[in-house]
Amino acid sequence: MGDIILKKYTRRSFLENTAKLCFKVGLSLVFFNGFRIKASSDKTTTIANKYDHTGSGFEPAYLELHKTGELNRRAETLWAILERCQLCPRRCRVNRLKGMSGFCRAPGATLVVSSFHPHFGEERPLVGNGGSGTIFLTHCNLRCVFCQNWEISQLGRGVESDIDELADMMLRLQRIGCHNINLVTPTHYSAHILKAIDIAAGSGLRLPIVYNTSSWERLEIIQLLDGIVDIYLPDFKYWNGDMSAKYSSGAERYPEIAREVILEMHRQVGVAKPTINGIMQRGLMIRHLVMPNNAGGSEQIMEWIAENLPKDTYVNIMAQYNPVYKSFDYPEISRRITGDEYNKVVKRAKEMGLANLDIQGYWWLKR
Ligand code: SF4
Repeated sequence: MGDIILKKYTRRSFLENTAKLCFKVGLSLVFFNGFRIKASSDKTTTIANKYDHTGSGFEPAYLELHKTGELNRRAETLWAILERCQLCPRRCRVNRLKGMSGFCRAPGATLVVSSFHPHFGEERPLVGNGGSGTIFLTHCNLRCVFCQNWEISQLGRGVESDIDELADMMLRLQRIGCHNINLVTPTHYSAHILKAIDIAAGSGLRLPIVYNTSSWERLEIIQLLDGIVDIYLPDFKYWNGDMSAKYSSGAERYPEIAREVILEMHRQVGVAKPTINGIMQRGLMIRHLVMPNNAGGSEQIMEWIAENLPKDTYVNIMAQYNPVYKSFDYPEISRRITGDEYNKVVKRAKEMGLANLDIQGYWWLKR
C-alpha cells in the first residue's frame, strides 16, 4: 500500500481513527478477554501481501534466520537459560522451567499477556494509519515506582497464554493492518517471543518486530537478538545509579547497562529512517521520559547520546510523566513536570546537535 501518508494527528483524528479501528476489529480484540484465534496460514499470507504497508518489498530481519533454522536455534538457546534464569541483569537463577518465579514474578515458564491491539499512542512513525500492533506482556524485571502500567507490570494483570497463541496474535495484528509487532516489556519472555516469531514467520508474518524495552537488559541476550529485531525502542531512564536504585527496585547499574545495550542496539539496526510513507521499519528509536526535579538526569542523557551515537539518532523526549502507583511515596517525583523542565532538556539536546528529536509529547504539558 504505497499510498499511505502520515497525516498530522489532531486529538480529533486520533479519536476518529481509534473508533474506526475498534469497530473494525471488535472490542473483544482490543480488550483481549481470552481471545483465541487460529489463523489459516494461506489466508494470512494473502492478507499480509494485501497489507504490505511498505510498498517496497520490505523483508523483516528475522525472515532469513527463520529460513535457515537459526531463529529456532536462538530461541532454544534462550529457552535453556530459563532453567537457571539469567535473561536479565537480575540473574535470579531460578528454574522457571519448573515453575519457579524470580524478581520479575513471571510464573515460571508460563506466558502471560495483558492485551494485544492496534495502538495509536506510540510514536507517529510506528503508528501510521494502521496502528502499532502492540502486545502488552505481563510482569516486569525493572519495577519502577512510577510505572504507568503498574497493574500489568507489577500486579500481574493478564491472561495465561502460550507460544502458539502469541504467534496467532502477531498474525492477527498483521491481518488487521498494523504496521509492526510492538512487544512491550519483552525481556523476561524473550525465549517465548523468539519461538512465536519463528512459528508466525512460517505462517506469513512479515511485519517488523519492535523490541520495546526499559533497557534493563543483559548485553549477551541483546546480542542473541541480532538479525531478529528490526526496531529497538529502548527507554533511557536515568543517568544516575542512585536514582535508578531508588525508583527502580535497586537497579543501581541501570545507567551503565543502558548505555552498553543501546550502543549494541545501534550496532545491530543503525539509525532509524522512515520510508517514504513515514513508517519506520528498521533502526534505533530512543525514548527518554523527563521526570520532575531532574530525577532522570535528562540533560546528561542527551549529551551522552549526542557524543556516542549519530546526531540523527531518533530521540523521543517524552513529557507525559504522570505520578501514579508508588510515586507519591517520593515527594520529589509526585507531580507532573513543568514546561520549563521540559524545555530545558529539549534546548540541551538541540545545543548538542541532536537533529532527530520527537517532541510531540509536548501537548501533554498544554492539557
Ligand atoms: S527474567 Fe525474571 S527470573 Fe529471569 S533473571 Fe530476570 S527477573 Fe530474574
